[in-house]
Amino acid sequence: MNFADILLAWFDENHRDLPWRGESDPYKIWVSEIILQQTRVVQGIAYYHNFLAHFPDIKTLANAAEDDVLKVWQGLGYYSRARNMHAAAQSIMENHNGKFPHNYQEIRKLKGIGDYTAAAIGSIAFNLPYPAVDGNVLRFISRHFGIFDNIALNSTRKKIEGICTKHLPPKHAGRYNQALMEMGAIQCTPHNPQCENCPFAESCYARQHLQVTVLPIKEQQIHIKDRFFNYLIYLYENQTIIQQRTGNDIWKGLFEFPLVETENDTFNIDDYLSKNGIATVEKPTLGFQKRHVLTHQNIHAKFWLIPLLKMPETGKSQQFVNLTQLKDFAVAKITQEAIGLLDC
Ligand code: SF4
Repeated sequence: MNFADILLAWFDENHRDLPWRGESDPYKIWVSEIILQQTRVVQGIAYYHNFLAHFPDIKTLANAAEDDVLKVWQGLGYYSRARNMHAAAQSIMENHNGKFPHNYQEIRKLKGIGDYTAAAIGSIAFNLPYPAVDGNVLRFISRHFGIFDNIALNSTRKKIEGICTKHLPPKHAGRYNQALMEMGAIQCTPHNPQCENCPFAESCYARQHLQVTVLPIKEQQIHIKDRFFNYLIYLYENQTIIQQRTGNDIWKGLFEFPLVETENDTFNIDDYLSKNGIATVEKPTLGFQKRHVLTHQNIHAKFWLIPLLKMPETGKSQQFVNLTQLKDFAVAKITQEAIGLLDC
C-alpha cells in the first residue's frame, strides 16, 4: 500500500466522531474550520452547534447585525474571526448569488480565509485537490519524511504542502486532508506519539532514526508586547458607562468600560479622576485585576470601581447602561469576568 492508502485505511478505522465529520455543506465546514482555528475541539463543539442554531445558513449570517454575531461568538476570543465570517457571508450574497464558491481561488479571496482554510473547505466540500496543512500536518509530515527545516517558516510550509500534494489521491482529497490532520491530532501527537501502534512505524524517518522527540523543528521569534489597561467602572444609581471598541486593535466592535491604557503598571486613579473633574462619593477601589494572554500580547487589566456623585458626560461611542443590561452586550472574556463580579 502506498502512503495515501495506509493513511486513508487508518483514518476510516480511527477517526473521531465529530459533528462536522461527513459534512458536505461548505457553510458548515467553514464554520467548523474557523472555530477550530484558535479553539480546541472539545470546546469548539458547543460553539459550532450554537453558531449554526443562530445562523443556520449564509443568508442568515449575512443579514445579521455584527453585534449579534459577536455576541454569539462571545467566549471564543479572536473576534476578528467572527467579523471576517460576517463580511465574507455578505460578499457571498453579493458576488456569488448566496452560493459558496466552488473554486479554490474564489474561496481564498473571502475575508478571513487563508491557504489552509481554503484548501480544507475546498477539498472536504468539493474534493478540490489542495493540501490543507495545519500544525498537526506539519508535525506528522516532518517526522515521517524527516524534514529538519523550521516549521515556523513559510518556505517549510510550502515544502510540506508539496509533499502532501505529491501523495494526494485526486478522488479522495477531502478524506485525505482530514486523515492527515487527524493523524497529527490523535496519533502523531506533540508529546508521547503512539509510535508502537502507528501504521507508519516502519516507514517513519523519525521513528527509525530516533528523532521523534527532535522533530518537528520549531523556532519562533515572537515579540510579546505587554499592555496595561485600566477600566473605569463608573457607578451612579445602578448605571454605568460603556463604549464600543473601534480602530484596528484587539476586540474591535466589542463593548467595554471606559479605558485608560498606560505605558506601564503605574496608574493613579485618584489623580486621573481629579484631573478630569470627576467627583466620587467614596474612594475608588480596585474591583478586579487579571492578566489575559493573547497570541502576541499580554493584557494586564485592572477594573476600578468608582462610585460617583453624578455621571460624567459621555464621550463619542459611549453610552449609559443599567448594570443589569451589561450582560446583553458582546464583551471580551476578561470584561465578562469583571461584570460577573458586579452585584447586579
Ligand atoms: S511512528 Fe511515531 S513519529 Fe512516526 S508518524 Fe507514527 S506516531 Fe508519528
